[in-house]
Amino acid sequence: MPLPPGGYSGETMSDFLTHFQTVGSNLYTRNMLSMHGGNLSVKSGDKICITRSGSQLGYLSESDLVLTGIDKEDDNTKLASSELAIHRAIYQNTPFTAIVHAHPIHATVMSTLTEKIVPADEGGLLFIPEVPVIGFNVRPGPGKFAAEISQALTTHAVVVVYRHGSFARGMTLDEAFAITELLEISCQMLYMEKLLTH
Ligand SMILES: [Zn+2]
Repeated sequence: MPLPPGGYSGETMSDFLTHFQTVGSNLYTRNMLSMHGGNLSVKSGDKICITRSGSQLGYLSESDLVLTGIDKEDDNTKLASSELAIHRAIYQNTPFTAIVHAHPIHATVMSTLTEKIVPADEGGLLFIPEVPVIGFNVRPGPGKFAAEISQALTTHAVVVVYRHGSFARGMTLDEAFAITELLEISCQMLYMEKLLTH
């Protein structure tokens, strides 16, 4: 699927849909989500297009996409994912135009062990040399740590919320997905290395 050059602008909901479906399906089939877990969004002007609360990312249709304001509430706001506050904060504080929030198992397990995940494989070292763990040792909850996550994503491509999951940013959903997958592969390797050497 071709990437829109330089991010999203002027696309309609149906233009967005293919990107959401591809990334949602990839996350689900690669074991980085439960049936109703995770959320995706893109920025378009002063609007955010985000998955609906309770949607199944592996099986998205157009009615699962909600368009609402980045700064302003409207009738659609209450339909959006429970993580809307975090997505809004990221768009308010960074120049990025796409966000993938997933629950990759190995990355989430690693978040219980350290405040900073440091990949050891070549791809991880190159693209995500240091991954902050947000809210270490604090019970996670929907929409929590919006300021901390958006701040960390100004200088890091991805963060992991303690015992919860990842937030990755990019100019396109495909880019944010690629970073999420890289994180999970790096953490899977770290996890296996720990098992084999201890
Ligand atoms: Zn989540």
